[in-house]
Amino acid sequence: MTTESPLNTALVQLRGTVDKLGLSENDWQTLSTPRRVLQVAVPLRRDNGDVEMYDGYRVQYSTTRGPSKGGVRYHPDVDLDETISLAMLMTWKCALTNLPYGGAKGGIAVDPSKLSARENERLTRRYTSEILPIIGPERDIPAPDVGTDERNMAWMMDTYSVNAGFSVPSVVTGKPIVLGGSLGRTSATGDGVAIATREALRARGIDINGATVAIQGFGKVGYWTAVALENMGMKVVAVSDVNGAVTGFSSVADLWSYFLANGNLDIPGSDRLTNQELLHLDVDVLIPAALADAITGATAPGIKAKIVVEGANGPTSPLGDAILQDKGVLVVPDILANSGGVIVSYFEWVQDKQNYFWSADEVRENLSSIMMRALHEVEAVSNTKSVTWRDAALMIGVGRVAEAHHLRGLYP
Ligand code: GLU
Repeated sequence: MTTESPLNTALVQLRGTVDKLGLSENDWQTLSTPRRVLQVAVPLRRDNGDVEMYDGYRVQYSTTRGPSKGGVRYHPDVDLDETISLAMLMTWKCALTNLPYGGAKGGIAVDPSKLSARENERLTRRYTSEILPIIGPERDIPAPDVGTDERNMAWMMDTYSVNAGFSVPSVVTGKPIVLGGSLGRTSATGDGVAIATREALRARGIDINGATVAIQGFGKVGYWTAVALENMGMKVVAVSDVNGAVTGFSSVADLWSYFLANGNLDIPGSDRLTNQELLHLDVDVLIPAALADAITGATAPGIKAKIVVEGANGPTSPLGDAILQDKGVLVVPDILANSGGVIVSYFEWVQDKQNYFWSADEVRENLSSIMMRALHEVEAVSNTKSVTWRDAALMIGVGRVAEAHHLRGLYP
């Protein structure tokens, strides 16, 4: 296990956790194996009449603690290994935050920016119909991830419902509000990343007011994180998108207004940076909120931030992680830092099942209380066992899944 890939990262982390918890080789076998893996071919008729085939996946890594749960990713790099690793992370994330779920992930190897809205709709509906036999409110509940949003969730919900013969909002989360979505779901991951950042600063004794932050990524996670951090009094000094990074803007709100009007981040007065320069800025907090393997053996040595908060899933390779640990950087791991998304997904599922919808304040308060509980548990285990926050988070999450597995026993 020496190469740096998302599945390798996840397996190395799991192996270390199994050893730290003193679990058996039997436990390693059951915990390191995805329980259900579905690969499908998704045909798409393009607007010009051509037919193309795309590889689609749905991995239900675990259903030990409840129905499996996790997003659907549209990205050219999606493959089976990556989907398994992300489904594994969802399993530990749901256990760490004590949501009554297993873990899942799905996706299609496609660049959604190359699809028209109608093509995206046809692809999403066909993918949904291919995975239909294994999803459902009591089986597996998809949600948005990289490259998908509430439109895709509306089409998935509709495709499932048309086949069922009645409306089934609770089959997916991250839906538009009018279709049974939850208030606060759109900003939930970013809101949670901001709570994690605030608590990490507190743990390191750094004043929140004016603390400097660089964010890699300005999408669904990065943007809402930046907004929430600014509202808490921190100073976002740089953000990046696929075209590179930008610094020197007056506020995130100004940058966003400029982006909406002009379609780029080159607001007057700002300076361009490379993505690597953003990672190496002298800031209090660095937040990787894009894709996997941002912090590796190559990029970690130059990192100057005192705290890294993982907004993305799996942004730090094992080698990158070891380098950060040597430097004394506090890393808030992905399964804790970005859990706000699935926490509010859980609220959405609960609301759909009860047909009773909460106020934005109720969502905010409940999100904060679940995240604070998980943060305190991680900090306590980290202090008492002298392990990193990542090790502590994995020990809690993996430990809960192992305990549930022991209690259920093996059938037959
Ligand atoms: N895709 C998000 C994640 O990685 C959310 C998953 C969900 O809401 O089920 O946590």
